[in-house]
Amino acid sequence: MNSPVAKTLYFKPKERNVFFHLLTACNLACRHCYINPAQHGSNTLGKETIEDWLRLFYDPQKQSNVIFLGGEPTLHPDLAHSIKYARQLGYKGITVDSNGYLHHDLLANITPEDAVISFSLDGPDPEVNDPIRGPGVFAMCTANLKKAINLGFDVSLIYTVSRLNLDHLHRMPALLAELGCKRFFIQVIGIRGKSAQEHEAKLQLTPEEWLSVIPDVARAAAAKGIHVIYPKVFLEPKEEFQCAGLVAENYFIFPNGRVYLCPLCEDFPLHSFEIDDNKLVATRGINEKKLFSLTIPEGCVMNKLLQPGNLQYDKAGTPVHRISCCLLKQEMR
Ligand code: SF4
Ligand code: SF4
Repeated sequence: MNSPVAKTLYFKPKERNVFFHLLTACNLACRHCYINPAQHGSNTLGKETIEDWLRLFYDPQKQSNVIFLGGEPTLHPDLAHSIKYARQLGYKGITVDSNGYLHHDLLANITPEDAVISFSLDGPDPEVNDPIRGPGVFAMCTANLKKAINLGFDVSLIYTVSRLNLDHLHRMPALLAELGCKRFFIQVIGIRGKSAQEHEAKLQLTPEEWLSVIPDVARAAAAKGIHVIYPKVFLEPKEEFQCAGLVAENYFIFPNGRVYLCPLCEDFPLHSFEIDDNKLVATRGINEKKLFSLTIPEGCVMNKLLQPGNLQYDKAGTPVHRISCCLLKQEMR
């Protein structure tokens, strides 16, 4: 077998990804939760509204994919119906991002053909995971992940890396192999929601920490036959910078009707659109779209505004790294 190689997954112009938050309620209270009810609302969308919004965002000219999110999306009693409705409309990729509790008996109410289930776990054992995500979460999440695999579901595991669990990431490939999980998403902690609070801001990794740990763990997982995806974060010197807000189609929809194009903006009223009477209406005044076209040597403008701690400069004042769009991914397989 050849050594695993990293490949940048560039944006696909013929693809539309709809990140659909059905509700913001959750049964957990993770330390780094990115949900911000003051900005995202606290209501739960009704079944008809979910159907209306799925129709609103479906584009038959593109490969339309939907990712159901929360809060915890499986708390929504109409999730199974929404998944099947999305499939009928023609959505190709359908994913549920769950904390692993799979409420409303999700596995009994959909089939493996209906959706991929992504499980969030932030440690290779309860000692690391549970102080971050809550008591008993490791046991519940891994039990349901195994159950889903046994039923034939396509599953993946998401690990959000922060200072709290960076040192334990290297143990994840063995756990994934033991669980039989073939897809691994390594996520970088965002300075959003709870993580943006002052006492949690130190959860973010330095560039050195990210670059010295993540690619090696990704390679180790890939060597076990696991398909790994992780954010690019730092562009290579000759790599072109692209802002997904300008060259790709990603919609981040919240239950209060706000629609963002950039996830880094989600803590602020900078959304590009609002859903009003089932129509997508552009917002006026300063919004994220007006910032996307600002060209700066540091790469992503929202990163510079919101997470300047990521940036380092040499003696001449030139950025040591350019920061990629947070939606640009790297794959290792
Ligand atoms: S499972 Fe997700 S929504 Fe729930 S508390 Fe954790 S990060 Fe927040
Ligand atoms: S993360 Fe940066 S580059 Fe990506 S969409 Fe947002 S502003 Fe654009």
